[in-house]
Amino acid sequence: MGKLNRREILKGTGLIAAGAISGCAMPVIADSKIKTPFSIAQTMIPIVGSSEQFPVRRIYCIGRNYAAHSREMGSDPSREPPFFFQKPTDAIQNVAPGTTADHAYPTLTKNYHYEIELVAAINKGGRNIPIEKALEHVFGYAIGLDMTRRDLQRAMGDEKKPWEIGKSFDQSAPIGPIHPVAQIGHFEKGTIWLKVNGQIKQNSNLQMMIWSVAEQISKLSEAFELKPGDIIFSGTPENVGPVVRGDLMEGHIDGLPNLSVKVV
Ligand code: MN
Repeated sequence: MGKLNRREILKGTGLIAAGAISGCAMPVIADSKIKTPFSIAQTMIPIVGSSEQFPVRRIYCIGRNYAAHSREMGSDPSREPPFFFQKPTDAIQNVAPGTTADHAYPTLTKNYHYEIELVAAINKGGRNIPIEKALEHVFGYAIGLDMTRRDLQRAMGDEKKPWEIGKSFDQSAPIGPIHPVAQIGHFEKGTIWLKVNGQIKQNSNLQMMIWSVAEQISKLSEAFELKPGDIIFSGTPENVGPVVRGDLMEGHIDGLPNLSVKVV
């Protein structure tokens, strides 16, 4: 590969400014192959009806997106614009339909909460996406849990510190496979519920969302450039609550197979 091509490749890396082109004795990213001292796994979510998997780039979550849940968290939903937080991609715990996944009770918490949510998976990026075009960016949908160390989330909130330790910890995002829009369409209404040990805890309808999936995509894309591989947890209805070791959580959204997770 000639020098011009090499320059093109290095342009994006910031190495040009460091003098990499002029042949200084410093590490240079090779033209053909980047070597790394270890490898990192790309998080994937299985796609229903396909041998392909969905590579996850970012996990976004909207907060307080059902009015009754917003109120139970001590907020006034009528005056609140949507807000978002992220989980690390390796928070994903894939759960196959028809199976029950063991989910380890996390460290540090004494108040570990379920939040059942519809998840939208993006395969077309963009900035400032208009609401009426937003659903064109959705590849498919899944059912997921935004597991939360509620005591830590609240303590950090009280101290005006970041939420990460309460929301963005290891294995905090159990999720079923992605169902392509081509097969299943979009989700604007439909029952969403969560049972613990066979008892209904959360029970609502997707149409109770304050901000629809399309509105979430539009709002989110004002703050961040969305890219293929981004997924969005669309918020949980009211009656979140705790689980302990031994509890079996079963989540449901009309049109998707149930999600089954046992806390161990
Ligand atoms: Mn949530």
